[in-house]
Amino acid sequence: MSEESVKVAVRVRPFNQREKDRNAKLIIQMNGKSTFITDPRLSIDEQKQFSFDYSYWSHDGFVEHPSGIYQAKDSVSCYASQQKVFDDLGRDVLKNAFDGFNCSLFAYGQTGSGKSYSMIGYGVNRGIVPIACDELFQQIQHKKDSTINFEVALSMLEVYNEQVRDLLTKEFPKGGLAVRQHPTSGHFYPQGLRIVPVGSYVDIEHRINEGTENRTIAATNMNITSSRAHTIVTIYFNQIIKNDLGETKKTSVINLVDLAGSERISNTGVTGDRLKESTNINRSLSALGNVISALVDISSGVKRKIVVPYRDSILTKLLQNALGGNSKTIMIAALSPADINYDETLSTLRFADRVKRIKNVAVINEN
Ligand code: ADP
Ligand code: MG
Repeated sequence: MSEESVKVAVRVRPFNQREKDRNAKLIIQMNGKSTFITDPRLSIDEQKQFSFDYSYWSHDGFVEHPSGIYQAKDSVSCYASQQKVFDDLGRDVLKNAFDGFNCSLFAYGQTGSGKSYSMIGYGVNRGIVPIACDELFQQIQHKKDSTINFEVALSMLEVYNEQVRDLLTKEFPKGGLAVRQHPTSGHFYPQGLRIVPVGSYVDIEHRINEGTENRTIAATNMNITSSRAHTIVTIYFNQIIKNDLGETKKTSVINLVDLAGSERISNTGVTGDRLKESTNINRSLSALGNVISALVDISSGVKRKIVVPYRDSILTKLLQNALGGNSKTIMIAALSPADINYDETLSTLRFADRVKRIKNVAVINEN
């Protein structure tokens, strides 16, 4: 058994074109594990400081800025490539999976802040998920012999408007998949979700690309953007070890979660589908916030016996193990560097600051 806080990393992306066009100012600075944010209406001396397991600086766009602890030119020590983020966070996930722990990695932040960049990546800039899958199969290849057998399988789903859609199929039944509760373990699961065996990196990469494409197709059909949905990629990893007594099986479930954009969506002036959509996103992210508040109270000893409101949304039901449960959990909070996003960025930092106070108790799954 291993009690451990959720590990939290924040990562700031470079300025985007829109921010450059609007001549946006830099409000984020980093120094070691600390992240500082300046209220653009106040002076540079009045910064709020947060501390995380990792604070990752971006690489360009900051050279013109006159002040700050880190500027692009001399920010080498904080600069994080995709590979560095994987080395810090992804390697642990793999090690824990081989040890038989459940693992979860989730990305939080407003739309366009870099969640998908960190998780999946774009083109040659592969994110944590593909690098981890690649590494997983390399390690399997390396460890494979007559005494041990490995099984890897994958599922991929999307939660949109409180409905679960299987992304490994092009059929989207109306109403989505039902979420049921397992009678003995109490865990929630989407009934009938496809879990496909995968035998190589190429195989898994192909499936994830297919799922990502289905996500876009579904979004286009329903005239939404994919940032309105939560995506969960799950890897089921089994090790069957033969010994004198027969066989033991170590299992690990790895959840990789790309959350919907955290920006509050205003209900004013919207009707019909848009209203339903914004209400549901606000609802699932506030349910997530409520679950986290309850867990922080429990972890800090403020309250021991309270009901954690996992049942309040589909998202929190599916993340029950990842938060406060049997899992080693990591969160990446993605940040914009620009003053025009101050409110959202501060709210993301506060969210991340609460998440790091949660303690999970992970056990090795072996029988
Ligand atoms: P989100 O998934 O949070 O909506 P994306 O991951 O799609 O946002 O990122 C938005 C844009 O910013 C993309 O064009 C992406 O390539 C770029 N970007 C995000 N993070 C980084 C980073 N760390 N370094 C370079 N570019 C980034
Ligand atoms: Mg995205």
